[in-house]
Amino acid sequence: MANKSKINVHWFRRDLRLEDNAALYHALKTKNEVLAIFIFDNAILDKLEDKTDKRVLFIHRELQKIQKQLHALGSNLDVRFGDPVNVWKQLISDYQIETVFTNHDYEPYALHRDQSIELLLAQNNIQFKTFKDQVIFEKAEVVKDDGKPYTIYTPYSKKWMAKLNDSYVEPYPTETFFNNFYKTKSTSMLTLDEIGFVDDSTYAFPKYSVDSNLLNAYGETRDIPSLNGTSRVSLHLRFGTISIRKLVRESKDISFKWLNELCWREFYMMILWNFPHVVNGSFKLQYDKIVWRNNELEFKRWCEGQTGYPIVDAGMRELNQTGFMHNRVRMIVASFLTKHLLIDWRWGEAYFASKLLDFELSSNNGGWQWAAGTGCDAAPYFRIFNPYEQTKKFDPEFKYIRKWVPEFEDFSYPSPLVDHKAARERCLETYKKYLAVAE
Ligand code: FAD
Repeated sequence: MANKSKINVHWFRRDLRLEDNAALYHALKTKNEVLAIFIFDNAILDKLEDKTDKRVLFIHRELQKIQKQLHALGSNLDVRFGDPVNVWKQLISDYQIETVFTNHDYEPYALHRDQSIELLLAQNNIQFKTFKDQVIFEKAEVVKDDGKPYTIYTPYSKKWMAKLNDSYVEPYPTETFFNNFYKTKSTSMLTLDEIGFVDDSTYAFPKYSVDSNLLNAYGETRDIPSLNGTSRVSLHLRFGTISIRKLVRESKDISFKWLNELCWREFYMMILWNFPHVVNGSFKLQYDKIVWRNNELEFKRWCEGQTGYPIVDAGMRELNQTGFMHNRVRMIVASFLTKHLLIDWRWGEAYFASKLLDFELSSNNGGWQWAAGTGCDAAPYFRIFNPYEQTKKFDPEFKYIRKWVPEFEDFSYPSPLVDHKAARERCLETYKKYLAVAE
């Protein structure tokens, strides 16, 4: 055993910050020094085909920032790579660990992983303590009066808002206990190359803004994709580089509309936790009876932003080029794929998952099932977005379209993949037919 003194461990996952971090606070408050660790899980990394994936770059950069902070405190971030169970076996042999602290993760894969780790730790007489950190209300904290989970957003959000008080958004003052990090020599971190990814020091992640000007105007600007009218905090919420408590604390008296979006995020996390079948199938089971057309060529044109519908193509090109797409346009392209082209929402969901820097299983799944009409509180199947009407309303001067599809008025631009009216009729007939079968 390399080190005999007992330590506690804080295991970073999607909470990549030292400030206002629930599990880290509880770890640092104990009598033992705290070693901070992060594991690059090879099962997750192996699934990423693109070895220049910017999400891995983002994690790596954020870890470097934490590493710098820890070095200044006389400590070190222990970053490892491999299968988490094997890595933990190694950590158990490297240190004498009393308790492991970490924050909750609600995704099925993470829950399964945590069960295996908890078991391994228990076999070695090590405690595993977990905390709520990435949401204000989790699991079954906001439920109906009869204790059942909500499946409709509006009553859920009313309860969520009513329950919200200062005690839920108070920061965890981790800095008070920063002297309790494990004192050890500084080491350099694993490089991206060592985990099979490409570094790109020139790449700049877009900045986020939650200043009061943006939030004050949010109600008017949020639906206009040509404006910088939304906060762009989604990437930071995904990896926990900003605290949700801080965001809610600072925004709740400025913009109800924006707070409401943070509430949607928690609604979908709650749905995923209570109804994990949504990961593979429709929330409304009868919608699994739909036989999708799944035309691969049409799917390819959608992915590439070559459908001949400028607003759809603009969205897909924004996604392909930047890893981001404006929320209004996410709804339009998702509706187009599922309803105009009758392509399985899971194909679109998977494509988004591979491209979005802010990819979040719960919100992505929720957004796709909403658009397809298969979700809990979804757009009804007969509500079919008209891409032209959406353009008139949200991009009337084609500013957004022109940015991403500059050739949209030229002869070179493809003609529409489907006729809107015919596609609409086909969609209505299809949904009606299969939902009747399901009854
Ligand atoms: P803002 O408008 O500034 O909102 C602030 C925050 O509120 C967001 O960062 C996000 O955390 C949350 N939020 C906003 N809108 C929603 C929403 N509709 N559902 C849930 N949370 C919301 N969001 C993701 O974070 N990851 C995804 O993988 C994702 N996939 C989506 C797929 C589809 C088909 C659709 C329709 C929406 C999806 N969203 C997803 C929700 C939303 O589009 C993004 O959260 C938003 O565009 C991020 O930009 P922003 O940070 O500027 O948001």
